[in-house]
Amino acid sequence: VDACNLYLANEYGEMVLLASHGLVSTDDVIIPAGKGLVGLVARSRHAINIDDASSHPDYYYIAKTGEERFRSFCGEPLVLFGKVIGVLVVQRVVAQKLSEENRSFLVTLASQLALIVADISTSIYKPSSINLHSVGIKGAPGIGIGIVQLCENDELNKVPDAECDDIEGTIKQWHNLLAAVRADIKADQAALGVQISESVAGIFNAYQMLLSDQSLIEKVETEIRAGHWLPGALRRAILYFSELFRAMDDPYLKARHEDIQHLGNKLYESWRDVNSAAKKTKEVSKEPVILVGVQIGISEILSIPAEQLAGIVCFKGSSLSHTAVLANALGIPAVMGVGGIKGLQVGERLIVDGNVGQVIFRPSDVVVSEFRQLINQERLFLDQLESLRDKPATTTDGITVKLFANTGLLADITSGLNSGAEGTGLYRTEIPFMVRESFPTEDEQVKVYRQVFTAYPGKPVYMRTLDIGADKQLPYFPISNEENPALGWRGIRFTLDNIQLLMTQVRAMIRAAEGADNLHIILPMISSTNELDTFRQLFEDACDQLRQEGLVLCRPKMGVMVEVPAAISQLPFWRHKIDFVSIGSNDLSQYLLALDRNNAHVATRYDHIHPAVLHEIYRIVSITKQYNLPLSLCGEMASDPAAVVLLLGMGVRNLSMSTVKLPQIKWLIRSMSIAMAEDLLAQALRIDSVETIRTMV
Ligand code: PEP
Ligand code: MG
Repeated sequence: VDACNLYLANEYGEMVLLASHGLVSTDDVIIPAGKGLVGLVARSRHAINIDDASSHPDYYYIAKTGEERFRSFCGEPLVLFGKVIGVLVVQRVVAQKLSEENRSFLVTLASQLALIVADISTSIYKPSSINLHSVGIKGAPGIGIGIVQLCENDELNKVPDAECDDIEGTIKQWHNLLAAVRADIKADQAALGVQISESVAGIFNAYQMLLSDQSLIEKVETEIRAGHWLPGALRRAILYFSELFRAMDDPYLKARHEDIQHLGNKLYESWRDVNSAAKKTKEVSKEPVILVGVQIGISEILSIPAEQLAGIVCFKGSSLSHTAVLANALGIPAVMGVGGIKGLQVGERLIVDGNVGQVIFRPSDVVVSEFRQLINQERLFLDQLESLRDKPATTTDGITVKLFANTGLLADITSGLNSGAEGTGLYRTEIPFMVRESFPTEDEQVKVYRQVFTAYPGKPVYMRTLDIGADKQLPYFPISNEENPALGWRGIRFTLDNIQLLMTQVRAMIRAAEGADNLHIILPMISSTNELDTFRQLFEDACDQLRQEGLVLCRPKMGVMVEVPAAISQLPFWRHKIDFVSIGSNDLSQYLLALDRNNAHVATRYDHIHPAVLHEIYRIVSITKQYNLPLSLCGEMASDPAAVVLLLGMGVRNLSMSTVKLPQIKWLIRSMSIAMAEDLLAQALRIDSVETIRTMV
């Protein structure tokens, strides 16, 4: 072919020429929505393969492209998740259609390209465009309006190779650099003051740990000895370790590759400050500022006075990024993973909407004023939530619902208490196991678990036995090579096969609760009576052993998570063997719908309000009611307002959720009646579409 052109749809459905081989000019070539052959391909979702483009009634000529040289035209739509996001066009000077064989190659090419360009499709905008919005991942709630301050802290990647002329001297320099950056991080931590939460302190500890890690120190030394200058050696070592983390399956550990890159850039910046005369000084204006960058480090966040920092936008990253954790702790709205943004200027206005996970570029005055109203309303609402902290979650018709906290990844127990939680409804014990290099000992576990009992004296504490496998992996015990990990060796299946680990953990839980009667042990992924019976025997043995060892123990309560659908029908058989039931709506929905919510290809189809899930949960509620089994629910459903209304309508009275959501759910419950919830449930149970149910509720 003589020309190949890639068009991408922008916000307005216009087709923007992104790249071309063959056209004269590619600058600002934009085809109006629906116009031209390109528009026709997009509209019809079907290829056009013709030998003479100019005689087609839809032909749309843009003079500066020099397109008149080409006669034939073949356009193939770029489709992503059912939506046309662009068009790939090839043209020839001769009037000859593309052969069928070549066309099928073009189809393949277009499908591959769609996946590759997906990230940039929303970020191209014309200089004149206003109110363009880009959707990312919710990092921290709230809305911020301010001017862009770019963080160009990705300099390490651009460092060229150069030779090292003094190996020993450079190694010495490396150690001095480490010491200097360690001191910087200490100073950053001190700047945050004494009352930083555990999760934020954890970030600083993680940084210090990484900087003291012998393997990193030695890797840089090895690179220097191989003849690379310090920045080059650092770039190689950081790339090596960040790729190691990026390849991990566990989403938390995977997200740590950003910490490594961030530290690498920080080390390089510090080296550059010492070694170049011209230090980079950042101009800081007095206006509210939105920090925008590929990744944004803690020191950059701290370099701006808290009252001036209105928001954070990261091109990469997820809600598990430390940037998001810190933004949450400091109450700064943040949106992560928005992809690259072409043409963004320092100083232009931006709105960060962390509640929805969207960024609005160059907002018009009308949009800004709407968002200012939202900010004011939100402030009033949050004040109202704050005043509810010590009030019960009682509906307008007098029914009280108990709200508990889930403590999870980067668990912060105090935030649960601050939000008014009445206990912890799910303590995911995987965390202390994940952040280590080997299985923790019984004593080590006792120490960790005891913190939970100390924080919630006399209040229910639901501790789940180790739930690893599938999406939760331990770095030192990878369960790999499973074709279908979600249906594989995970949860109770794994721990029963490694019964020594389970025994240690159960003993540690009971010891940590010594003298208290609030321990509830929950079993994850239970699907058969055999599993339950084996665990019960182990549980009795653990209690006997500890009694013999002189421990005064109150017998803990023991129950199951209902998250494998098979458990539902077996609850009547288990009624005398368990003390309670806890619905794990995340896995229950995943297994009922055969949908992995962590899989981006199907994530939009996953909804726990799906009629099949609602009917099954209703069945669980009815069974537990019939047999007088206490019931709670601890998946994400417990913090989804629409789902909560329906759950209350079913009769669920114990909900456990992430602590940030708890105050709003309490507000919701206090503003509604059970009578209304029952009415909405009755309607919902007669509807067979998720969308209709959501709209109705
Ligand atoms: C669940 O599956 O709903 C649940 C609470 O467990 P996890 O999200 O830890 O798998
Ligand atoms: Mg689960």
